[in-house]
Order: sequence, then C-alpha cells, then structure tokens
Amino acid sequence: MKRALREIHSDILILGSGGAGLFAALHAHQSAPELSIGVAVKGLLGKCGCTRMVQGGYNVALAPGDSIERHFMDTIEGGKWLPDQELAWKLVSLAVERIRELENELGCFFDRNPDGTIHQKAFAGQSFDRTVHKGDLTGIEIINRLAEQVWARNIKRLEEHRAVELIKSSSGDALAGVLMIDMRSGEYLLVRAKAVLLATGGGPTMYRYHTPSGDKSCDGLAMALRAGLRLRDMEMVQFHPTGLLAGAHTRMTGTVLEEGLRGAGGYLLNGAHERFMQHYDAKLERATRDIVSRAMVAEMRAGRVTPNGGLYISMAHLGAERVRREFKGMVERCADCGFDLAGGLVEVVPTAHYMMGGVEFAADCTTALPGLFVAGEDSGGVHGANRLGGNGVANSTVYGGVAGDAMAAWVRAEGALRAPDPTAIDEAIARCERPFAARGAGHGAIEMLRETLSGVMWDRVGIIRDAAGLAAAERELSAIDDALEGVALPDGERAYNLSWHDWMNLKSLTQVSRVIAAAARAREESRGAHFRSDFPEAGALERSAYTSARLVDGTVAIATKPVAFTRVRPGETLLRDAVHGAATDAA
Ligand SMILES: Cc1cc2nc3c(=O)[nH]c(=O)nc-3n(C[C@H](O)[C@H](O)[C@H](O)COP(=O)(O)OP(=O)(O)OC[C@H]3O[C@@H](n4cnc5c(N)ncnc54)[C@H](O)[C@@H]3O)c2cc1C
Repeated sequence: MKRALREIHSDILILGSGGAGLFAALHAHQSAPELSIGVAVKGLLGKCGCTRMVQGGYNVALAPGDSIERHFMDTIEGGKWLPDQELAWKLVSLAVERIRELENELGCFFDRNPDGTIHQKAFAGQSFDRTVHKGDLTGIEIINRLAEQVWARNIKRLEEHRAVELIKSSSGDALAGVLMIDMRSGEYLLVRAKAVLLATGGGPTMYRYHTPSGDKSCDGLAMALRAGLRLRDMEMVQFHPTGLLAGAHTRMTGTVLEEGLRGAGGYLLNGAHERFMQHYDAKLERATRDIVSRAMVAEMRAGRVTPNGGLYISMAHLGAERVRREFKGMVERCADCGFDLAGGLVEVVPTAHYMMGGVEFAADCTTALPGLFVAGEDSGGVHGANRLGGNGVANSTVYGGVAGDAMAAWVRAEGALRAPDPTAIDEAIARCERPFAARGAGHGAIEMLRETLSGVMWDRVGIIRDAAGLAAAERELSAIDDALEGVALPDGERAYNLSWHDWMNLKSLTQVSRVIAAAARAREESRGAHFRSDFPEAGALERSAYTSARLVDGTVAIATKPVAFTRVRPGETLLRDAVHGAATDAA
C-alpha cells in the first residue's frame, strides 16, 4: 500500500536545533527577515542534542596575552596538522565575535572575574586558559537563550520530526527538499526547500560507552552519504577520558565528567590507587584527550582496574569545598550515582564523545550539493585529528551563524523551489517501510544487534586499532546491516513507534560505522584520536593527508588527499607575528 505523503514548502529548512541549527535560524532571519524559515528536529527545540549538554565551556581568545593566532596554533597542533587551516582560522577568529553576540545580543551570562572581565578557565591541550563558561553547565545557558530568541521570532518549528532522506531535484544536480517522518503520527512529510542546513550533530553513539544524547544517531551523515557526498576524517573519533562508570545497567554510564576536572588538577588513579599518567606523557592528566584515553586503555588492559573494570578520578586533594563550589553539577551528577566527587574516588572509563569527521564543506558552509549547507558536528575538517575541549561549541555556534547568513544570501540570489525526484521519494519511503514488510526476526533482535554493534565498535574500532581487527569489524558490520534488513516489525501504530525509530537509528549508525572502520583501515599511521598498534608512528607531518569517504554502489570507497598548509607549515608558528602584531589581544 502506498503511504500518504504530505508536502510543505519553506525557503530555508534547518535540520537540528543544537548550537549550529539555532544560530543558523537566527542569522538567516536577521539577514533576510522576509524568508520563511523552518527548524525540524528529532526532539523538542531547545531540549535535545549535545549543545545543551556542554559542561566545560567555549574556547575564545579574549584575554590580554592570548590571541587568535595562539588559539589557531593550539587548534592546528592539537589536530596534528590535519585540520583544514582556513576552516580552523575562521573558527578562532569568529569565535570572538560569537561570544560577544552570545552575551550582548542573546543575553547569556558567563562567569566573571572580580574585575568584571569574563572568567576563562584551563582546558587540556591549550597553551592559554581561554575557556569561557557558566559554572560547569555552560550549554544550558547557551541553548536556553538561543531557544528563547528563536521562539520569539517567526520561525516555524517542526518538533519531533525526523529527517530520513535528502531528496534531490528531478535533474539530480541540486537538493529539492527533505523527506521527514512526523514522529507524533508516523506520517511522511516532504519539506521542499530552497536551502537546507544539515546540523544533526553527528554523534558516536555506536560505541559501548558514549556521551552524546540518545537522539543522535548519525542520521545526517548517513543521509549525506546516500546523497553522494564525501565525508572527511571519519576515522577520527574522539574519546573523552572521563566517562562515568556507574555499572552496566544504567544510561548514566558513559556520560561525561568534564575536562575542567583534569584542567583544575584532578588526578587519574588506577585500581591500585596509583597515579599513572607520568608513565605516558609529560603533561600528565592535562595531556590531550587522545593521549589520556590511550594511557587509560593501557592501564585497563594491564588489569590495573577498579571493581567495575575502569579507573578512578580523584579531586579530594584540591579541597572538597573548592570542588563543590567549582564543579557543582559534576558533584551532583556523581552523587546521584553514589559517588563522592569532592572527597572520594569516582570510577571512570574513556567514552566516545565527538566525531571530528563529517561532511566536506567550504568555509561558507556550502557542500558539493547545491542547496545543501552543513555546520557543527555534522561537518568535517575543522578539528583534524583531535578536537580541543571547548572548540566544539565554538564550532557549532560560529559555523551555524555563518550558514544562516550564507543560506539567506544564497536563497535571495539564486534559490528556487526545485521539482523533487519522485523515484527518490518512493525509494526512500520503501527503505523506511522495510521492517513492516520483512519476515525475519522480531523487534527483540534490535536490542541484540545494538549490543553487537556497540561491542564491535568498542573492541575493534575503538581507542587502539589494528588491521586484522578493522577487517573483522568491516565483516561484522556488514553482517549487522544484513541482519537489520531482515528485522520485522508489526505493521500497527506508527505514532511514537520507538521500535521503528530504533531500527532507523541502527541503520544510520551501522552505515556510518562502516565508514569509520574503512577510513581507519585506510590510515596506516597513528594521528591524534586514531591509533594503530600496527602503525604506531605519526607519519611525516609535511605529507599530512586526510581521508575522504563516499559510497560507490553501496560500498565505502576511501581516497586520501593532501592537507593544504595555507597559513602555516609543520615546524612553523604564527606566534612571533602575534606577539608583535596588532591582533594579539583580540578582544
Ligand atoms: C556531554 C557533552 C559535553 C560536552 N561539553 C563540551 C564542552 O564543554 N565544550 C565544547 O566545546 N563542546 C562540548 N561538547 C561537544 C558539543 O556539544 C558539540 O560539539 C556541539 O554542541 C554540537 O552542536 P551541533 O549543533 O552540531 O549538534 P547538537 O547540539 O548535538 O544538535 C543536533 C540536533 O540535531 C537533531 N537531530 C539529530 N538527528 C536528526 C534527524 N534525523 N532529524 C532531525 N533532527 C535531528 C537533534 O535532535 C539535535 O537537536 C560536549 C558534548 C557532550 C555530549
């Protein structure tokens, strides 16, 4: 039976309501108030996604002695020379503008010093303490203020609407719109739009331990792949060293204890209550996330573990009062799970946190598909091999704003509603309908396949990788994908049909996992977040190359392309200029 399809039109359609999506909506509205703008989101606007979960804060060069050049160099060196330098430059320079906008136009209150200047704290891997924050719950402040501003404007909200396919025009050379499912009714909806922003926030939720919100299942990346776009640096999955380890049967396990704990001087201890980071890196607990996570896995593999198989973080030596004052949210989160962060020990494990990889894009957020723009964690190339803590929310807000401006200008200049390809719509609906027509295992299989997926990704495509494990993972992921094709769901109520959405989540996650595994196998060196025990050396920085993945007849094809050192080459620095230059104290 052919399913009914409703259709609506919008000049601009934004997928996702995190920092990228909401900033894009506000900027597009400001740039071109006459345009119709819609924000479609899998959850409720302002209540879902990871920007709301940002704890530690926002990197920006504001203080005397800091500079955008210094922030840039930290980003490039932290990213192991893989970032696209123009994208990284735009990030650090526009972050200054964006933080002013957040405070002065949107009304965010960030913590301040006694002299009234913005307080900036230490984050790992940075040469200057530049992380702006609101206590340790910065994201709630940012998203609440952004959401209020969006609510106050004439911006259409499509809440609990899941994007399932990017639909091209009949000629195939541009985007015509997005096929969605209204999760509240289960009905299909085609939103035809002149410009679409992909801001669904990536999210490595395919790993056993992970931090991102459950609404994120890499749908945007999977849709981009199916639309023929290239994904860059997909092997670069960041693991945060301090995920809470609260036991196997609580979703609190994997949630992150913020980086500021290590920044403030927290210790990591093994199961024998010994500090161990001195055996791995001179920066101890303040080394970058990749180094600390690998050191932790090495301790765990050596069996020096806590009762739940992890390690400990200890803050008590800093004084319980100070810890309670500075990390109120973290102390409360730990207390909810029976741990005393201020005075005792908390069990932790590395946890998949962020995808540096994403859709290849230009500095104005355009992609290879006319009409499609991308921003935030769905995009690739800003962070290279490793994202600095604090650069994530800077990335989503900076590029969200850029995308809003760019889409408004593009729609005014050349935007048109294009006729969608009817075959592409039928095929996309048939793909979503597959479990209702299948005759295989019932919905119980979905949970089993999720467990299998998270185990394969954690064990074989996780923090320490090798060729044999990655090849095995590719076979296993292919088998999971096949098994998903056979899962059968009863063709009944479609409203809030969570088994159906779980099935679609797993399809997206499996598709993107295959790209991560293939890109990881292609990179025969160890850089940043990607560590190959069979290729432990970093390779020559001068010959740095990024991976570029796309689907060819359903198979993942990986190319490697040289990084263009457009501003600085390995071995050089911009800092001498910065010390003498006017831009040093960018304020
Ligand atoms: C626990 C935690 C703490 C963090 N702390 C920091 C920090 O201190 N500093 C920092 O810089 N970064 C931090 N990050 C990273 C930061 O949150 C992200 O880099 C950034 O916020 C991503 O913004 P985004 O707009 O791209 O995506 P998100 O904010 O994740 O928003 C994605 C949106 O897309 C929607 N969506 C997903 N799929 C679909 C679909 N199919 N259809 C429609 N909508 C969809 C989601 O519902 C959501 O609204 C943290 C991340 C986590 C998980």
